[in-house]
Amino acid sequence: MRCLVISDIHANLAALQAVFTDVKTRGLSYDIVWCLGDVVGYGAEPNECIDLLRTVPHICLAGNHDWAVIGKLDLHTFHEQAAYVVEWTQEHITSQNMSFLRSRPDILPLDDYLLVHASPREPIWEYITDVNVAEENFDDMQASFCLVGHTHVPVVFVRDGRTSNVHVSMPSVNVPVMLKRDSRYIINPGSVGQPRDGDPRAAFAILDTATATWTAHRVEYPIKVTQALMRSFHFPLRLVERLNYGR
Ligand code: ZN
Repeated sequence: MRCLVISDIHANLAALQAVFTDVKTRGLSYDIVWCLGDVVGYGAEPNECIDLLRTVPHICLAGNHDWAVIGKLDLHTFHEQAAYVVEWTQEHITSQNMSFLRSRPDILPLDDYLLVHASPREPIWEYITDVNVAEENFDDMQASFCLVGHTHVPVVFVRDGRTSNVHVSMPSVNVPVMLKRDSRYIINPGSVGQPRDGDPRAAFAILDTATATWTAHRVEYPIKVTQALMRSFHFPLRLVERLNYGR
């Protein structure tokens, strides 16, 4: 099975469209989209992004912004700018799409794979930012492969099957990573709609479960289109501008 793995779309329709177009243009076929949560928040097109996602075969997890929008997380735990957009989203989202967000699972085991937004032990909140946090999470998970989003940074953590040491690497774009059967992995595809690794292009990955390969991809999208819409709704300037830098 070939999975198009995406995360943290954050209501950025131009970025999501660019991913689907790029996949199609380059003939990167897939059977299903695995979306690791945070479809909404930060951006101004929550409905359009959910509607587009629903046109393709998909599995979609819940993220912290999704939970905030449905009232499952206290907004005081959010940064002021993020909270502003959560409240805006609550006012603008359709009831059908609110139901979509409400029915997202927060953790989903699929055979050898575990899908979560944040981390295996804290599926909605914990940021796996370094080897130490990854190591603690490896202790906590049964699956061989865990796919996470949340940090908006594409990364591969691997616990070596022979030495049990945990290593981290930033996968090179377009270069398949061979997933070894005797090792275990926590992998992040990065963010579609608000990258934070210094590369403003939308991030996604293709997982091929038959060949056990993970390939990271990036695609440019019309950032100014997304920003113009955010500005028209008076979104916090910092959220608008960070898209330029991918930070
Ligand atoms: Zn996010």
